[in-house]
Amino acid sequence: MSIQINSNDGKSIYLGADIIDSFSANLRGELLNAKHPKYGQARQVWNGMINKSPALIACCTGATDVVTVVTFARDHNLLLSVKGGGHNIAGSAVCDGGLTLDLSAMNGVLVDVKNRTVQVQSGALLGDIDHETQRFGLAVPTGINSTTGIAGLALGGGYGWLSRAFGHTVDNILSADIVTANGEFLHLSEQENIDLFWAIRGGSGNFGVVTNFTFKLHSVGPTILSGPVIFPITQAKQVLQQYTRLARELPDQASCWFVIRQAPAFPFLDEIHHGETVLILAMSYVGDIEAGEKALAPLRALGQPLADAVGPCPYKGWQAAFDPLLAAGARNYWKSSDFTDISEQVIDILLAASSNLPSNECEIFIAQLGGAASRVPSDAMAYPHRSTAYTMNIHGRWQSPALDDEAIAWVRELFNQVEIFSTGSVYVNFVPENGEIRKIGPYGANKARLEKIKGKVDPSNLFHTNINIAPKLN
Ligand SMILES: Cc1cc2nc3c(=O)[nH]c(=O)nc-3n(C[C@H](O)[C@H](O)[C@H](O)COP(=O)(O)OP(=O)(O)OC[C@H]3O[C@@H](n4cnc5c(N)ncnc54)[C@H](O)[C@@H]3O)c2cc1C
Repeated sequence: MSIQINSNDGKSIYLGADIIDSFSANLRGELLNAKHPKYGQARQVWNGMINKSPALIACCTGATDVVTVVTFARDHNLLLSVKGGGHNIAGSAVCDGGLTLDLSAMNGVLVDVKNRTVQVQSGALLGDIDHETQRFGLAVPTGINSTTGIAGLALGGGYGWLSRAFGHTVDNILSADIVTANGEFLHLSEQENIDLFWAIRGGSGNFGVVTNFTFKLHSVGPTILSGPVIFPITQAKQVLQQYTRLARELPDQASCWFVIRQAPAFPFLDEIHHGETVLILAMSYVGDIEAGEKALAPLRALGQPLADAVGPCPYKGWQAAFDPLLAAGARNYWKSSDFTDISEQVIDILLAASSNLPSNECEIFIAQLGGAASRVPSDAMAYPHRSTAYTMNIHGRWQSPALDDEAIAWVRELFNQVEIFSTGSVYVNFVPENGEIRKIGPYGANKARLEKIKGKVDPSNLFHTNINIAPKLN
């Protein structure tokens, strides 16, 4: 069947049936157009605000399919997007009227227990990796929501409960295989294609399609000390003032993030408090349970909590603990800022904003970073944000389109108020739209080197449906 499809330079072009049929015949996976029964599901991404309709979706089953799709897109100068787990807040995995390369069927995970490494295909989700590695009491540091895709997360940075102990996901990539814009299949490591290996570790999806990663594994659990402590919002100011002091002293094995939101119907929280605005300290300790009890005790002794559900818990369960609050399909608008400290002024602004949360799913989410992740030089790889001690994500999240304007305005208002206290940098995976103006931005001081590498490997900017790095030619 012939098709109208968008080109990389914004034109609508026509591809005849013979061209599409031969493309399809060269794939092991399926090629979906809008009439295919699997198309509706395949074009969906995590954020319910995104409603894009690619002309074609190529479901790849392996590296050969990826080479075929990239080569086809380049030869016909097509608009191309790359879908891993489909979690990106900006919906960059799909493109309107273009060709989407879907990696979701490529989700193999192979653990090498002896060498403590794991090979992960790029369509795997974080839960797929934990499922295989935790069998051996091992883990890769990743994110905190098990349905997130590894590829987008790892290529942007990747932080979670293990970042302070073992570095971010990027710090644990030992090697990767990539298909570049000219259809070449390359192996990247500290020894091979060194510049490109440097660039993909934080340069997001700008340099090609990664088909496979090899990660370093660490001993984790399978049981770790973790859980939330919930405080009434009336105690939040006093608790957070103490929290910022205690957080600085925590050992690397411990992490404590905080969330301000309406209390979900947690089974361990008295029903009377469900729906009340609360402060949640979410904490974990990777290591010996007794040592963890000691490390987390000062945080648990703050204020008079409504509930304390910290206890020994399977690491895999902790990795999925926030899944129900972050399920796919809701409407989302997020904005993010980095901080070296959470000052009293910032605490006051956050608490004022919590008095008018637009929905019972909106939240102010602050991740504590630092530790091992902060001891990597900021130019060791493309990911630059080593001095970020906290990343704030304002999660605007709601169900009805009728709430769009109010919720987005709430997010932007809070973001504007706190931005002057931030470092001016931002984690690339939390940028909600291209073209955001920031003092430092997602690529920081590494941007110029990234532009040069981009100019060499993707001069025509085939991979641009992302937080784009413009190719610098010469
Ligand atoms: C609910 C939720 C929780 C999150 N929690 C965390 C967290 O704890 N820690 C954290 O660090 N981040 C977190 N994130 C952000 C997450 O890292 C990004 O959304 C990331 O883009 C998800 O990866 P994905 O593969 O699912 O992305 P997709 O939406 O599939 O892709 C996003 C972009 O990544 C690129 N890409 C994807 N696959 C490839 C590939 N194989 N090769 C080249 N480029 C590719 C493409 O450019 C694409 O545009 C979270 C996001 C959500 C929605």
